[in-house]
Amino acid sequence: MPEGDTIAYAAQRMRPVLEGRVPDEIRTPHPRHALDRWPERLGGRAITEITTHGKHLFLHFEGELALHSHLRMTGAWGVYPPGRRPRRSMRRAWLVLRTGSTDVVQFDGPLLELLTESRARLDRRLAELGPDVLADEFDYARFLTRLRADDPTRGIGDALLDQRNLAGIGNLWKSESCFDAAVDPWRRTGEVSDEEARAIVDAARPLMRRSAQTGDQTSDRRVFRRHGEPCPRCGTTIRARGQGDDNRTTFWCPGCQH
Ligand SMILES: [Zn+2]
Repeated sequence: MPEGDTIAYAAQRMRPVLEGRVPDEIRTPHPRHALDRWPERLGGRAITEITTHGKHLFLHFEGELALHSHLRMTGAWGVYPPGRRPRRSMRRAWLVLRTGSTDVVQFDGPLLELLTESRARLDRRLAELGPDVLADEFDYARFLTRLRADDPTRGIGDALLDQRNLAGIGNLWKSESCFDAAVDPWRRTGEVSDEEARAIVDAARPLMRRSAQTGDQTSDRRVFRRHGEPCPRCGTTIRARGQGDDNRTTFWCPGCQH
């Protein structure tokens, strides 16, 4: 599942191709968007800016229009200069933006929609998002307010995945940052101090900001998918178990995370 750093990395690769440019071609090959007339509605307009918030990505066009995308489990953005071809069939692409000879493509979804900028500002789903874990200046006060308003019996590992508390973090960096901060992801949120909650965010941010620059999500892993192996800190066997309503697998060391 793409986390915020994957989306930020995609945005970083898209910017030099699209920002400040009018796409030479806009296509929506997948039948899903056949009736949306985006080539007509967006044709001739420059892309002014590409922004992200958590796992959401926005392509802002001249004339107060924005394409809003969320990939959830299945989607992907790709940038394909000449000679590089996508692994997925182009017929299944939801959106193709061509500038020069480079294609920027979104495959699958679940969400790709055209909004006016005013509609995007009023959108409830977006207004409910917590502070972006990748932001240059992280809003700790807002994060703690949201976290304290959540169910205090909920495990902290589960609460961290709720995008209303913290936007952009997913299963991988949740496991790694709880490990870094030595906090047991199963502990009730109400029993996690503000300092510990901050320490988790402080662990997640440099890992995710680095990966957003490099696209490398593997070198910093110490517990994720390492269940059965010895903990690099204390040697106890790392464990894995599904957590929360969505049963997302949490990886943790029962020896040194309390
Ligand atoms: Zn350990």
